[in-house]
Amino acid sequence: MPSYLEEAQSLFEYTQSLRRDFHRHPELGFQEVRTAGIVARELSALGLEVHAGVAKTGVVAMLEGARPGPVALLRFDMDALPVTEQTGAEYASQNPGVMHACGHDGHTAVGLTVARLLHAHRQELAGSVKLVFQPAEEGIGGADLMVAEGVLLDPRPDVCLALHVWNDRPVGWLGIVSGPVMAASEIFTVRILGRGGHAALPQASIDPVLASAQVITALQSIVSRSVSPLQAAVVTVTSVHGGEAFNVIPPLVELKGTIRSFEPAVRELVLRRFDEIVHSTAQAFGCRAEVECLVMTAAVVNDPQVTARVLQAAARELPDSKLEPDFKTMGSEDMASMMQNIPGCYFFLGSADPARGLNASHHHPRFDFDEQVLPRAAALMSAAAAEFLK
Ligand SMILES: [Zn+2]
Ligand SMILES: [Zn+2]
Repeated sequence: MPSYLEEAQSLFEYTQSLRRDFHRHPELGFQEVRTAGIVARELSALGLEVHAGVAKTGVVAMLEGARPGPVALLRFDMDALPVTEQTGAEYASQNPGVMHACGHDGHTAVGLTVARLLHAHRQELAGSVKLVFQPAEEGIGGADLMVAEGVLLDPRPDVCLALHVWNDRPVGWLGIVSGPVMAASEIFTVRILGRGGHAALPQASIDPVLASAQVITALQSIVSRSVSPLQAAVVTVTSVHGGEAFNVIPPLVELKGTIRSFEPAVRELVLRRFDEIVHSTAQAFGCRAEVECLVMTAAVVNDPQVTARVLQAAARELPDSKLEPDFKTMGSEDMASMMQNIPGCYFFLGSADPARGLNASHHHPRFDFDEQVLPRAAALMSAAAAEFLK
């Protein structure tokens, strides 16, 4: 019997042509109309029951095995980013200012390939597969909306799986880790309020620019002095806005940025110190501060039992892989909102080929990956799903 990898390799042209088509026609979150149309068309062609328009542009399909059994949810994200592509690839974006710079074009093509592979094996499956093509992963709430619209109900999945191609590692590398693997993420907006005035008469003003500089610097003490060196956290200020003129002290400076962590206790510590530092530092310079913190995603935490079975599938299907068993990233993923409810595993497949320059980082204008990862990803996802429906 051919392996899932051999079957996925025999479908390579199908997968590659879909991936390149999605890459040429990237769509931002909740605007994946063309992409979702192709997904629905391909799934319908297999005779699956397809629901389009879930969470605006999401697509969900059920694939029934020959016998009853558990339900495995497989999630693939479809959205692109507001990035102007600079790859010069023959299949480069034809949609100015929008680019598949994270690899979700590959994920969508992999998902459709998985549908074909599992459909061909449906006589061997006991249970059903819920194929979920999710919109708007890139920080605008696609997974949350899918959950709100009932993607985890009727039927409720027993297990959920998702993957990411990973350009920090070469093709052949695998990151399959039990426990926390992607960070919890919050975004913050801080307003430092002073009193504006003439730049040459600072004694008559309360300068929020100076206070902001101190706040930014002091915030860096949270990770270096408050969090244990053996635990992970990030506090990054990414945006500083205040003032227009060289001779006017502005009344207000606005800071934005993000906080990342894995452990709930670390997260609470960082958020508490963040609040204390912002308010007390602003106050020390005569200013007042307003802090707004918004939870983006919880941490992605892989279930140990589910992960063990994905590892078994990987050992069988991709025995030549180089496994990094303690891989983690401070990146975040809205798949966390499905995995908080359903035990799951989120795994990574190396997709870089540095010799061909295919190793720019995710979200970079020259991001592109080695398409040899696509059949490997489809084979592993199919084999992992089948592992739960034996
Ligand atoms: Zn991304
Ligand atoms: Zn991504």
